[in-house]
Amino acid sequence: MLKESKTYQSQTLMGGLSGFASPIGLDRRDRLNALRSGDIGFVHSWDINTSVDGPGTRMTVFMSGCPLRCQYCQNPDTWKMRDGQPVYLQAMIDKVERYKDLFQATGGGITFSGGESMMQPAFVSRVFRAAQEMGVHTCLDTSGFLNRNYTDDMIRDIDLCLLDVKSGNEETYKKVTGGVLQPTIDFGKRLSRLGSKIWVRFVLVPELTDSVENVEGVARICEQFGDAVEHIDVLGFHQLGRPKWHELRIPYPLEHAKGPSKQLRERVREQFESHGFTVY
Ligand code: SF4
Repeated sequence: MLKESKTYQSQTLMGGLSGFASPIGLDRRDRLNALRSGDIGFVHSWDINTSVDGPGTRMTVFMSGCPLRCQYCQNPDTWKMRDGQPVYLQAMIDKVERYKDLFQATGGGITFSGGESMMQPAFVSRVFRAAQEMGVHTCLDTSGFLNRNYTDDMIRDIDLCLLDVKSGNEETYKKVTGGVLQPTIDFGKRLSRLGSKIWVRFVLVPELTDSVENVEGVARICEQFGDAVEHIDVLGFHQLGRPKWHELRIPYPLEHAKGPSKQLRERVREQFESHGFTVY
């Protein structure tokens, strides 16, 4: 997911995949079975940060694998699940337990991000269940594209969802991500019905997602989620992800794109505010 990177770097500790024993030696079939059951998850990296991926001090785990191909993706190195490192479920739960006091003291918790963590529903939801039992706040950073992988019971263990509403209409959504918009809308409604809170994230890219009509579409979608929406984060596009696309030799569609001007950000903020939303 796209972060406001300067802020992110200054608020992030640790990183990589330090501190996890990896299940080396499992053959392909055993790995697939363990993935299905959630006994292991494929993880790109994790870190401890403050006020970036939800409230308080949080452990954010970036899962591997994503079905979308967003033009502005900052983490194309997370797209393939097989590029992640398998981590035991219990090792992840132990890590949450280790930081439990810190999370509770700061109003923080655990966030799963990616990639798309909904590609690994069993692992993520089992960690969330364990976290809930410890009294640790849970947050899922997702597009909702794969929400059919989640049962209502799994959703009930999500305290907060950072929901990427990447566009307000199907045509732009397809252009931006290669996927379809409807699952995001469906997921927002399910979250709302089941009592989870939502922070909507919208990435503002000049000449791609910035039209008045598209932003109105996003606002109307958010209205369907009712009181579940606590605020909307408007994330300005930036080029800090570009080196990864080059490194991976993937043609980068936004090679020459620029971030939004102050005026554009202001216009979009006003549009959302006119629908009654708090905007950050
Ligand atoms: S949904 Fe996938 S492709 Fe899109 S920004 Fe997130 S990780 Fe990248």
